[in-house]
Amino acid sequence: MEFNPPFNCPGCNAVKSWKTEPYFCGGTPATCSECKRAFTIPLYCPECDPPHKTVKARLVTPAGFLGGTVRKCPANHLFTVPVLTSEVHSVLGQMGTELGKYYQSERIEKLQDAKLKQAVSGGYCAGVALDWIRRALLGGKVTYAKDPNKRRDERAAFAWTEDAKRVDWANEEDERRTAALNKSIKGLNLRKDASFAAYNKRWDELDADKKLSVV
Ligand SMILES: [Zn+2]
Ligand SMILES: [Zn+2]
Repeated sequence: MEFNPPFNCPGCNAVKSWKTEPYFCGGTPATCSECKRAFTIPLYCPECDPPHKTVKARLVTPAGFLGGTVRKCPANHLFTVPVLTSEVHSVLGQMGTELGKYYQSERIEKLQDAKLKQAVSGGYCAGVALDWIRRALLGGKVTYAKDPNKRRDERAAFAWTEDAKRVDWANEEDERRTAALNKSIKGLNLRKDASFAAYNKRWDELDADKKLSVV
């Protein structure tokens, strides 16, 4: 894709263009292949300028970390600047000391239990978060990461499967309760209809008696 007005590298002035656009990349950091200078890809609206549009209208692009911020185009479309994995690491790294990089897809591959590996193949961030919370509450040990027998991956994966079971159970319970409630409502309706029919019948009988008494 090309930018209009032409987008030049702020370092060497080389004209930058991207032939493919697999995902919205406005506002994300990039490095110039010529001068190696880091810059931010100019913002553009993903609705006004979708991937098939090769000429994008460039929007005002502030300096600094833009990932996660919500922007508005002149046509009032709202869009969120994506956050790259590398940005997550650098921003989190600024908050403390990074002990190691964590990629769950690579961790899943290393799980020893084949069944567990299969169960979490769709990703297990909820399990990792649960395990981290547990570790933070109990007090973690960095030595765990070095001991393959005490790897947190097994626990995180297990936590994920247990959490998934809880969600499944809640959904099934919801269905069970809805079915029971519907059955109960149906029963009440039948009773109401029966009671109403009996009332009508009795009324007709009384009416007939009245007519008889009048006669
Ligand atoms: Zn450059
Ligand atoms: Zn727009």
